[in-house]
Amino acid sequence: MAKVLMLDPEKCTACRMCELACSFFHEKEFRPSVSRINVLTWESDGISVPMMCLQCDAAACLKVCPSGALSCSKETGALIVDNEKCIRCKMCLSACPFGNTTYDAATNKILKCDLCGGDPQCVKFCPSGAVTYVEAMKGTLLKKKTYAEKFKELLREVKQ
Ligand code: SF4
Repeated sequence: MAKVLMLDPEKCTACRMCELACSFFHEKEFRPSVSRINVLTWESDGISVPMMCLQCDAAACLKVCPSGALSCSKETGALIVDNEKCIRCKMCLSACPFGNTTYDAATNKILKCDLCGGDPQCVKFCPSGAVTYVEAMKGTLLKKKTYAEKFKELLREVKQ
C-alpha cells in the first residue's frame, strides 16, 4: 500500500531541521529556500505549520503541465518533475492551490517534494514527530485532507 506524509502542526517546534535535511538531500547544500518542505510560523500565535506537496490524486500541476514533465511514480505515488522535459513555464506553480511547487532561479529548476524516493528525509530528521510517513489508509487520507483544508483557510485569512 502507498504511504503518505502526515503533518501534526501541534508537534512542530519550528526548528526547521526538516528544511535543512530536505535541501541537503536534494541539492547538497543547507539552503532552506530550496527545501521542498517549508515551515510557516505565526510567532504571535505560537503556530508553526510544515507544508509540502500533498501528492493530490487529481493533481492540478499534473493536469496543467504542457510538456509532460510531471508524472506519478509507480513505486511511491509521488509526483515527479523530469527536468529534461520541463520547459520552465511555471504553470505548475500557478496551478498548485497550496503553493507547494516552487522555482529556484539559481538552478533554474522546479522544486517539488518527491518523497525522496520513499525515504523522506524530513521525517528522518524531525526531532518531534511533526512529520510522519504512514500507510495511506482511508482514515489517514481523510485526516490529511481535513488538515489541508484547515491550512488553506488559515492561509487565506493571513493573506487578507
Ligand atoms: S523538523 Fe519537525 S519540529 Fe522541526 S520545524 Fe520541521 S516539522 Fe517542525
